Amino acid sequence: MKNLKAFLSALGSHLSSESILTDPHECNAYGTDWTRQVANVSAVLLPRSTDQVAKILSLANELEIQIVPSGGRTGLAGGAVASKGEVVLSLSKMNRIDSVDRLSKTVRVQSGAITEAVHEHCKQSGLLWPIDLAAKGTCEIGGNLSTNAGGVRVIRYGMTRKWVTALQVVTMQGEIIELNRNLEKNNTGYDLLQLIIGSEGTLAVITEATLKLTRLPRFKNIFLFSVTSLEQMARLCEEANFGPFHITAFEFFSQKCLHTVQEKLKRISRIGDTAPFYVLMEIERSSNDLSEVEEWLGKILEESLVVDGSLAQSSEDEKASWGLREGITESIAVTGPVRKYDVAVPVSQMVPFLTEGQKMFSRMNLSIDLYLFGHFGDGSPHFNLVKKPDCSMQEFSNQCDRFEIELFALLKRYGGSVSAEHGVGNLKKHWVTYSRTNRELELYRSIKKAFDPKHLLNPGKILDI
Ligand SMILES: Cc1cc2nc3c(=O)[nH]c(=O)nc-3n(C[C@H](O)[C@H](O)[C@H](O)COP(=O)(O)OP(=O)(O)OC[C@H]3O[C@@H](n4cnc5c(N)ncnc54)[C@H](O)[C@@H]3O)c2cc1C
Repeated sequence: MKNLKAFLSALGSHLSSESILTDPHECNAYGTDWTRQVANVSAVLLPRSTDQVAKILSLANELEIQIVPSGGRTGLAGGAVASKGEVVLSLSKMNRIDSVDRLSKTVRVQSGAITEAVHEHCKQSGLLWPIDLAAKGTCEIGGNLSTNAGGVRVIRYGMTRKWVTALQVVTMQGEIIELNRNLEKNNTGYDLLQLIIGSEGTLAVITEATLKLTRLPRFKNIFLFSVTSLEQMARLCEEANFGPFHITAFEFFSQKCLHTVQEKLKRISRIGDTAPFYVLMEIERSSNDLSEVEEWLGKILEESLVVDGSLAQSSEDEKASWGLREGITESIAVTGPVRKYDVAVPVSQMVPFLTEGQKMFSRMNLSIDLYLFGHFGDGSPHFNLVKKPDCSMQEFSNQCDRFEIELFALLKRYGGSVSAEHGVGNLKKHWVTYSRTNRELELYRSIKKAFDPKHLLNPGKILDI
């Protein structure tokens, strides 16, 4: 990359030698995410302070160096991929977590803090940052904010953007900007904090955030259900909406997902595995008395709203239930190459949309496998297409392309979105027009230009300029 030498040498007086990596093997590990795209990274920078990030970006802007911000690299849309010789800016060493502010129920963190470490820290004060996803042990707060991550508790708490009261960001020009300063209410014009959230590192680099917290649920329970059909699943969800509790997760998976997680990760299910669909439901209760919940479960079983149902009796049972749902992405990844579709439709349309989607897949007579799972209660299903061993890579890719055209046409009819929660990255930018109008995309380009006129920050992500 032009000017790289001058850039790295100028940085030498601001960053220690351990904060600048140039060994190609070491660097390329920082240039890809869970999409497993091939990386080509010129250098990796590991700043330890916001001032260092500001110095890096202002020098990069001056010397026209392309920068890819990187978190835990668990992204599923290629947002953190550096494949064209860019410099990766990893925030991983900036992982400070401050004391919890118990009065305002907030915590200030640096963006490289691991999501699970934030959960554990806040738990000691009886508080929760409610963004929870299977990648929590590796993903970082900066990545969660930049993708506006969803996860398994959206049905109760909403997406990441609801749980932030302040951001510190650095622009490509090296300016450090404090957004919102922890105000609960602030209606003074455009909300730049919300604009940065979900912008996938294309507008500014997030260095710190103040996260809003809620009380940890006092009593929670986890159920596993098997159901005969999507219609039955929807009836169960509706019934649970009015149960003597709050639903905190209503996740579903197909029989194929269950069998794969059992086989590949040796996870064990407490209920039989012969039904076509399964539901993991987590609930929160205000009282220690379980009798109302047991009564509700009895009614569900009596009215045959499910084939089988089980309430976890111990923390091991609960872990095993979550292990089934949370292991799906990993078990599919070890099965073969995957094409993922993380789509959204209104919750009320989940049954007809998924029914039509499955029928369409069968009708197309493809020689690939479909794994269906996701967040039923949020209208956010994941269609994962997996290559069979006897199908060539080229044939797999062609068949996925054929399915994609049909899926997106169907999605358009249902008024859905091509990215429910994983973002656009470099994988889905050609699909954005299914969910956004040309006028909206024109405005996107103007916003990008206002922040990064030279188009150096995370180039090729969300949009081609
Ligand atoms: C097993 C598994 C399960 C998952 N489940 C879910 C789920 O349920 N819901 C969900 O929403 N996602 C899920 N994901 C996807 C992924 O974990 C999330 O998108 C997560 O928020 C990404 O965080 P990260 O730190 O790994 O970010 P990365 O992958 O490193 O980066 C993601 C994007 O954020 C940008 N970025 C990272 N840090 C910064 C920063 N400090 N400043 C500016 N930009 C930055 C990157 O440039 C990139 O565009 C899952 C992934 C896996 C592997």
